[in-house]
Amino acid sequence: MNDYKVTIGIEVHAQLKTTTKLFCGCPTSFGEAPNTNVCPICLGLPGVLPSLNKKAVELAIRAALALNCEIHKKSIFARKNYFYPDLPKGYQITQYKSPLATSGKILVEGKEVRIKRVHLEEESAKLIHEKDKSLIDYNRAGIPLIEIVTEPDIDSPEMALAYLKKLQKILEFTQVSDAIMAKGELRCEPNVSVSKEEGKLGTRTEIKNLNSFRAVGRALRSEVKRQIEILERGGIVEQATIHYSEKTGKTRIGRAKEEASDYRYFPEPDLPPLVLEEEWIEEIRKSLEELPEERMERYKNLGVSEEEAKIISGSKKASKLFEETLRILNEPLEISRWLIREYRNFQEPDISAENLANIIKMVLSGKLSRINGSLVFKLMVETGKSPIEIVEERNLIQISDPEALKKVIEEVFKEQPKEFERFKKGEKKLLGFFVGEVMKKTKGRADPKEVSRILSEYEKN
Ligand SMILES: [Zn+2]
Repeated sequence: MNDYKVTIGIEVHAQLKTTTKLFCGCPTSFGEAPNTNVCPICLGLPGVLPSLNKKAVELAIRAALALNCEIHKKSIFARKNYFYPDLPKGYQITQYKSPLATSGKILVEGKEVRIKRVHLEEESAKLIHEKDKSLIDYNRAGIPLIEIVTEPDIDSPEMALAYLKKLQKILEFTQVSDAIMAKGELRCEPNVSVSKEEGKLGTRTEIKNLNSFRAVGRALRSEVKRQIEILERGGIVEQATIHYSEKTGKTRIGRAKEEASDYRYFPEPDLPPLVLEEEWIEEIRKSLEELPEERMERYKNLGVSEEEAKIISGSKKASKLFEETLRILNEPLEISRWLIREYRNFQEPDISAENLANIIKMVLSGKLSRINGSLVFKLMVETGKSPIEIVEERNLIQISDPEALKKVIEEVFKEQPKEFERFKKGEKKLLGFFVGEVMKKTKGRADPKEVSRILSEYEKN
């Protein structure tokens, strides 16, 4: 079975994060009572005029830019005609021949996945099938979607999952979509073919509406297996729409695949072509936040380790705090160390960059020991007080004065005479022991470096 080459392309529908629908002012809020977020436009009553939601266009442009697409200054809405109860007007408004954006690409696990197109379209209504009847909820009808279509550049179910996860992150980071699969905000339809012949693609089938990562992985694996089994038996894979059953974990053939001509596409007469100003596109480009991967590269260039850079850039909150603290204090390695060792341990609490910078400054200048730095961090999270207040209240200022430290060291020697004798005779490992004792006695306030330095003088004598 291993000599088959798998070829996968993916269509994703992502719900844009707007407060109103694509062509009317109805709210997009989730979980409302059925048929309450509706009006004559999204119900598809005769004689109504759609008007385009500018925010949806902006979000679609953001997505297309983040996917490195070419944005077309002019795109055209089309009617995709088909009859189905979830589409009372008998057509869906989408973009067909002339989409918003084309020719993008993203890297997935080091391999390039080309993005064929990104276009705007409206969602259809939701059908609810009960025992002896079917009900329709129009709340979702007209919700803005973007469709993102890849070229067949994906070569395994695993890579398909990696692509989807990356896409989800991009949509989330650019605030284009919350992209929560369980809420139906991100759905995907992969197409897949297998072939043994070098350079020749097999017949592809399209798996309908998958809405969890688990379903995508299982459906693709099952479909690849089904196709290979057919070919091994000497059969022919039919071009078809495939349904996946979560119950059985298997794919099965649905209806034969429609051709584009079946939909009788034609330009939407009620909407003018969508014409975009270059300035607006540039404005959106400038407002785009850096994606996690680019961010990670930048952190690595600052000297942060790959592992730490990955963790920090992967969290929007942590990376924001990193950047803000860096603006106050140019110590990237220290800041990343505090974020990894302290901040994340407290489940990313709300703290200000200024407060974090102040703790780090006190530690670097020797005013606060690292141990007490951790304590101050904890108290800051728990009490909401500033690090400076905490240090003063608790008298945590580090003792670096050699005379003061010598006094403590001699007390410790008196308490531990046997160890002191052994230490003096050259038992080096006792140095760490005595540093620990001094730290205990000073409740973490002693400067451990200075303590070590003084201790080693005793050792020499
Ligand atoms: Zn409406």
